[in-house]
Amino acid sequence: MILSVKNVTKSYGNLHVLKAVNLACKAGEICGLLGANGAGKTTLFKIILGLIQPDSGTVTLNVKGVKPIGGIIEKPALYEYLNARENLRLFCKIQGLKLSDSELELKLKEVGLPVDRHDPVRNFSMGMKQRLAIAIAMLNHPKCLILDEPFSGLDPLGITALRGLITDLAEKEGLAIIISSHIIEELSKICNMLYVIKDGSIIKSGPTQELIVHNTTSYSFSAPDIKNARVLKGYEVQFKGNSASVQLKAEEVPKLIQKLQEEQIYITSCVPELNMDKLFDYSKV
Ligand code: ADP
Repeated sequence: MILSVKNVTKSYGNLHVLKAVNLACKAGEICGLLGANGAGKTTLFKIILGLIQPDSGTVTLNVKGVKPIGGIIEKPALYEYLNARENLRLFCKIQGLKLSDSELELKLKEVGLPVDRHDPVRNFSMGMKQRLAIAIAMLNHPKCLILDEPFSGLDPLGITALRGLITDLAEKEGLAIIISSHIIEELSKICNMLYVIKDGSIIKSGPTQELIVHNTTSYSFSAPDIKNARVLKGYEVQFKGNSASVQLKAEEVPKLIQKLQEEQIYITSCVPELNMDKLFDYSKV
């Protein structure tokens, strides 16, 4: 494991923000931390990054190097009146790094930023700011990266592009990456492992797709003329526009798609409708 968090506890006065939290992330893995606002995600990240101390428990980083871990907490902290290159240069100085102009240019290219923008970063879109913040976090080659709500404020195209960058960092550079969000859809596509945090406790954890399957009781099927499907008469189903929300188990999905095809109803999408109450229920693991 690159990162191991063991029994981390943190309180502010009577408020128990983190209760014996355990989490681990290995090289090349993307771990998602899913929880509502106030669940304790940022506090955990601050502890992992060494910005605050836990009351008890340990954080172990099995990495050698100048900077074992990099991260972005809350929102990208950039100098808004400086341009991208000037921001990078300044953070290089802070981190004791000397990079030539062509090396700085390469850092911008690596995160997909244009090299010909010389205006202040206050003009940048949120997605561009996130990319620049990632480039800064990646200075000095950390092996672990913490991203706190990196998708917030991004449009769908920005989310897709940032997803691509994050998966590249894990798959090509072998980074251990931990991402927080309160929106499951932001995590489900890219996270290998998912940790569900509620009121400071990790209530569920495991491979993301397994958790999704275990906590899904219905699937939404979209297709032209789905309302006329005879096979659906045998299921508990609710029609919503061009889609049908059908109660069934994951293993029954391929058979239903096949039966729909036999009726010449061709599915354009099949999406699990995650039961969030079940996912966030302590008692149902
Ligand atoms: P999340 O990132 O999941 O939204 P946070 O870790 O920011 O949650 O906050 C968890 C809880 O801890 C919240 O109730 C928050 O108000 C409280 N909290 C966070 N930091 C402090 C602090 N420095 N002093 C007192 N309470 C805090």
